[in-house]
Order: sequence, then C-alpha cells, then structure tokens
Amino acid sequence: MQLSIAEDWSGVVTIKVIPVIADDHLNTAKFVRSLRPKDFDEVSRYLVQSAKGYGLELSNVIQVDLEAPINSAPPSIPQAGNSRLDLIIWSLRLRWWAWNNQLSDHQDYHIRLFMLYQSPASGVSLSHSTGLRNGLIGLINARALRPNKRFHNVVLVHELLHIFGATDKYDIATGRPIYPQGYVLPNAKPYWPQPHAEIMGRARQISADSFEVAERLSQTRLSELTASEIGWLK
Ligand SMILES: [Zn+2]
Repeated sequence: MQLSIAEDWSGVVTIKVIPVIADDHLNTAKFVRSLRPKDFDEVSRYLVQSAKGYGLELSNVIQVDLEAPINSAPPSIPQAGNSRLDLIIWSLRLRWWAWNNQLSDHQDYHIRLFMLYQSPASGVSLSHSTGLRNGLIGLINARALRPNKRFHNVVLVHELLHIFGATDKYDIATGRPIYPQGYVLPNAKPYWPQPHAEIMGRARQISADSFEVAERLSQTRLSELTASEIGWLK
C-alpha cells in the first residue's frame, strides 16, 4: 500500500495509537489501562502548531485516536546491521501480525502506531523504535512508567514523521545531532547552546562535546528541512 499523504495534506490523516501490553508484568497492564486519550492530545497540538509556522492549517486534518489495548506482541524489530532481506521478511511478518490482530482497516490515511509498553523490571533491553513508510505502521518501544509519558510522545512524533517521509538527523552511533541538518538554528553564532532539539535530530547540542536528548515535545522544533521532507513546504 503506497499512499501519498505528504503530497497534499488535504484529506484527514487519522493516527490510531494502539497500546500493546508487551510483557507479563501486572504493572504494565495496569499502566496501559490507565492511559487516556488526553495523554496523546499534545501530539496533534504539536503537529498543528508546527504546521502553522509553515503557513499550513492542519487543525481539521490531523486526528489522533487512542484504541483499546491489545496483548499480543509484534515480531521483534531486527537489530541494526541485519540484512535488507531480514528487514523485508520482518516487515511482512509485521503486516501479517497486524492483520491477525484485526487491525488492518485499509482506509486511506490510517496510520497505526503500536506503543509497546514493557515494565522496567522486565530486564529486556528496549530495541529501537521504527516507522515504516510503506506499511503506514510505527512501533514505539516504551517503558510503562508514568513520568515517561511525555517522552513517549516525542518518540511517537519522531516515528510518525518517518512514516510521512522525514529522515533521521542524528548520528545513530553516538546520538549526537548532525550539523547542520540536526540543528534548529544552524546559523546561530555561537552554534551552541541550541535552544531546542530538532525533532528528527532528537537532541540539542549544548556545548562542543555535549548534547541533551529532548524529553518532551515542547523542547523540540520541526525544522524547515523536515517540513519539506514531509511535504509541508513546496
Ligand atoms: Zn528515527
């Protein structure tokens, strides 16, 4: 399924947030059941606000819905370094899994973001999150911890923007935002401290050798480059 969401931004884009209880810990299930639609309100607010800065009115375009939680964990994401074939096989298994979970309504512009909540006590290291442009699916690994909710929305928006066509703007090995594309104000003198993290750069550079990962959406901005990648700027 190939949709061209980023080409016009005129139709309604529905984003289904599907919480997954991804382990057997009681606290995970409890946390997931405590989630409310308002926990995700800032996602649409952020997108609408960011688009406004580029002269685009999206308040009747972006809709974020919180769906009922599910218990079945998806096939795990291949680690970096896996072959392209592994990724293709995984992406097919993922779509099969989504279909099996009766989550395959193929209406236009329905994006499914699975939030995979796990207990910090599970000891499982959280592999990276991912957003698949072709499948309109995102998987977000998240710790089932109340103080982390705002951070989850940062990851959610980041992965969502991948689905819309945005590229990463940080160094995957070090986490450091890449100059200049990972900077909100690449022309600032001096270069740091940067006031905000670019949403696809994930962190703001605060000195020559240190950076700070954004923990909430208000600490980030969506740069002109990202805006043009997702079709907000022609
Ligand atoms: Zn990314």
